[in-house]
Amino acid sequence: MSSKEDSKPPPEASGTSSSSTFSVESLRQYLAEKLHILDSGLSQEKKVKVLDDVSIDGIVDYIKKRSSINIITMAGAGISTSAGIPDFRSPGSGLYSNLQKYNLPHPQAIFELDFFYDNPKPFFVLAKELYPGSFKPTKCHYFVKLLLEKGHLLRHFTQNIDTLERVAGIPEEKLVEAHGTFHRGHCLECKKEYSLSWMKEKIFEDKIPICETCPGIVKPDIVFFGENLPEKFHNCAHTDFAKCDLLLILGSSLVVQPFASLMDRVPDTTPRMLINREKAGERTGLLSLIGMGSGFEFDSPDNTRDVYWLGDCDEGCQILADKLGWGDELKKLVEKEHKRIDEESKGDKKTEDIKKESKIEQPPKNEE
Ligand SMILES: [Zn+2]
Repeated sequence: MSSKEDSKPPPEASGTSSSSTFSVESLRQYLAEKLHILDSGLSQEKKVKVLDDVSIDGIVDYIKKRSSINIITMAGAGISTSAGIPDFRSPGSGLYSNLQKYNLPHPQAIFELDFFYDNPKPFFVLAKELYPGSFKPTKCHYFVKLLLEKGHLLRHFTQNIDTLERVAGIPEEKLVEAHGTFHRGHCLECKKEYSLSWMKEKIFEDKIPICETCPGIVKPDIVFFGENLPEKFHNCAHTDFAKCDLLLILGSSLVVQPFASLMDRVPDTTPRMLINREKAGERTGLLSLIGMGSGFEFDSPDNTRDVYWLGDCDEGCQILADKLGWGDELKKLVEKEHKRIDEESKGDKKTEDIKKESKIEQPPKNEE
């Protein structure tokens, strides 16, 4: 079974849909009448045709037709997997077995504040494994960068804490790191701010970073369970989505709230496209039958705006770029940036080696 087709349903599926459309439609009418919402503005609005072709080609036409467009991208772990970022949230991954020796009560404990106060060590072991600087952004990250360069990117909302968006050159003002970032940290006691490089030095020496002015632990600004999301998330969620002309959701299975529900904040006439390994974020339940509720309506007979493309994010973005006529530009951008990062890390390694050598050579040698 190919998972890399356009979002059009296969012909067999549309053959069976006429009878099921009828029953769903009559049930919808019935429920709408019962709930007295038949003539609501909402049901009228639903009839607006958004895309001529509900597929990746329809999305491409929609972008090409516009001289200016505000695109919001929403990203999940799927955009970073090809960078080699370990899937650290799934139990059973290599990282969690490494952490067994720390006797975590359950895998999520590593991101729980109470546990962290008692025993911050496992978090910092994990942090060392995941530390920014050891990974290169993916083609998908550079596709978002390309949207920015073309003046199309309104905002990039990410669930990822790997800072690869920053490495790819997406500036802070275009970025909402919904679950926080390793980019900076704060003392849990006095709130003093610390930089990525300060924390990195301690973490790579296998030390718990302790504040320089008080005995507090310095925690990277990752949102732990039970902590509030960054203020910027709420502010941008409030202002951006009404202005959004196109929503692209990349590599997210849309299960973590409140991030997932952002997709419903765009106007009803804004197309939404999911690029992901599997279908996600679909509207389900009773409300979906009457055209209400939240989520994608991929399989609804009225759908003229929700498109999915199943497969690898990098490949999906390359196909989208190719169809937009930006394919070579994207490939060149990835090549140029990866080369730059490789050269910089070579430079860093040299400096580190020189540091190490000078440390080793400091004590007087007395082998003879
Ligand atoms: Zn402090």
